[in-house]
Amino acid sequence: MNITPQTLSLTALGKQLRSGALTSRRLIETHLDSVQRFNPSINAIVSIDADRALAQADHWDQQFALGRSLPALAGIPIAVKDNLCTKSGTTTCGSRMLRDFHSPYDAHVIEKLHEHGAILFGKTNLDEFAMGGSTETSIFGPSHNPWDPDRTCGGSSGGSAAAVAAGLVPASLGTDTGGSIRQPAAFCGVCGLKPTYGRVSRWGLVSYASSLDVAGVFAHSVEDLAIVLQAIAGHDPRDSTCLPHEVPDYLSTIDQSSVRQTENIRSTRIGVIRDQIESPGLDEQVRRSLKDAIETYRKLGAQIVDIEMPHSKYCIATYYIIAPCEASSNLARYDGVHYGFRSKGPEASTLDRMIQQTRSEGFGPEVRRRILLGTYALSAGYYDAYYLQALRVRRLIRQDYDDAFAQVDALLGPTTPQPAFRLGEKINDPIQLYLQDLFTVGANLAGVPALSIPIAQSSDRLPIGMQLQAPPLGEAKLLAIAAAYHRSVEHQPTIPAAFQAPQS
Ligand code: GLN
Repeated sequence: MNITPQTLSLTALGKQLRSGALTSRRLIETHLDSVQRFNPSINAIVSIDADRALAQADHWDQQFALGRSLPALAGIPIAVKDNLCTKSGTTTCGSRMLRDFHSPYDAHVIEKLHEHGAILFGKTNLDEFAMGGSTETSIFGPSHNPWDPDRTCGGSSGGSAAAVAAGLVPASLGTDTGGSIRQPAAFCGVCGLKPTYGRVSRWGLVSYASSLDVAGVFAHSVEDLAIVLQAIAGHDPRDSTCLPHEVPDYLSTIDQSSVRQTENIRSTRIGVIRDQIESPGLDEQVRRSLKDAIETYRKLGAQIVDIEMPHSKYCIATYYIIAPCEASSNLARYDGVHYGFRSKGPEASTLDRMIQQTRSEGFGPEVRRRILLGTYALSAGYYDAYYLQALRVRRLIRQDYDDAFAQVDALLGPTTPQPAFRLGEKINDPIQLYLQDLFTVGANLAGVPALSIPIAQSSDRLPIGMQLQAPPLGEAKLLAIAAAYHRSVEHQPTIPAAFQAPQS
C-alpha cells in the first residue's frame, strides 16, 4: 500500500476497513514502515509502541470480520503530542524534566480516542512544555518541515503537524495555547483546529497556561478535522473549565450537498480584520493569497465585512504576561520530589539546593525564561502593574471579539506573518519568535475556536495558511465555512513527493 493523500482520508480509510478492502493490521504496518523510512529526516515522532498498535489493529480486524457496527475511528492510527498523558510509553513534554515520566492515566482526549476506536500511534515532538513556535527546543532535537527540511515546521505542536504532512499518520492531536496548532498547520500545509476553550477536556494535558490551553486536531481535510473533533469533544467533570454543552454533529453541518452549501455560504458574513491583511509585517505572497481567498468567498456569495479590533495590537504583550505567569505557577510542581528528574549533582546536598539544581538542569533556557518572567510579573509590587493589567486588557480583547461576532459569523485573516522560516533563524531571538504569534494569540485570549487551512504555496513551494475564527462553540459553522472554501477551489491535499515514494 502506497501512502497518498487519498489513502489518508479518514472517511476513505473507514470505508475500506469496513468493506474488507483493507485491514487495520496492514494499515498500521504501512505506517510503521513510513515512520521507519521517513521519520529520521523530519523527527516528527519521538516514541512509538509498535507491538501495542499492532495488537489493537488485530482486535479491530476481528471486530470488522464479525460485521459489527464500529465507531468512526476504529482501526485508524492517530499520533498525539507528547504533552498529552498516555498510560502506555512516556509523556516527556520534550523536556529533560520528564524524560522518563510514565503517566499513571490517560488524558481525557486519549480515552475518547480509544472509545472511538482510534489506535494510538506514537507521540510527537514539541517545543519543551509547548513553549515556542518552531519545535526547536525539545530534548529530542528539532523537527524538520517536510516541504523543506532546512525549515521549521512551526510549533509548538510541530511534530504532530509534520507527521500528518509527511503522511506518517492520517491525523494527529496537538495543543494550542497561543497558536501551537494553527501555526504548524500553516507551515506544513495541513488543516489544524483549535477548539473553543473548554470544548475539549484538559484532563491529562500537561498544563502550560491553564486559562489558554486546549487540545485540538491536525488532518488533511476539514471533514477529517470534524471527525476527530467529534471524537474528542465533550464534557468531563474532571476539568472544571470543561463545558457541559451538547456536542453537535460536526460532519453533517459540513453539508455534503454542494447546492445547500452555496445557500449556506450566501447567508454567511465573513469579517476581514483590515489591520491584519494590511499589516506591513505580512509577507506579500501571504497577503495576495488571502486577498484571493476573500474574492473566492465573495464569489460564493458571502458578505465580506471590514472589521476593526482596536485592542488586537495589545494581544502579544497581554499573552506574554498571562502565559508566563500561569506557566511559572504550573511548573512549580517540578521540584525533583513529585515528578521526573532529580539532580544528583554534589551541590544538591540540601532540599533547597536540590530543588534549585533540579530546576536549573531539568528545564531548558526558554522554559526557564518563562518561569522567570512569570515569577517576576506575579511578585508583590508588580502583580497589579503587569498581571492584573494584562487581565483587564484581555477582557477588552474579548470585547472586541464579541463586538465583531455581533456583526459577522467568522473572521478571516493570516495564520502566520510569512511561510515557514529557517531552522535556527529565530531561536536566539525570543522576541522575534514571540512576534510570530501576532495573529493567533487573540483566539486563545478570547477563548474562541479558530482553524488554519492551506490556501496556497509560495514561489519556493512553501505552504501558506489562512486563519478563520468563530464565536465560542461555533465550531460547526467554522468548519462549514472552511470546507466551503476548500470545495470551491477544489483543494487537493498533497504530501511532498519525497514522502510518497513507493514501498520497496
Ligand atoms: N508560541 C506560543 C508560546 O510560545 C504559543 C505556544 C502554544 O500555543 N503552545 O507561548
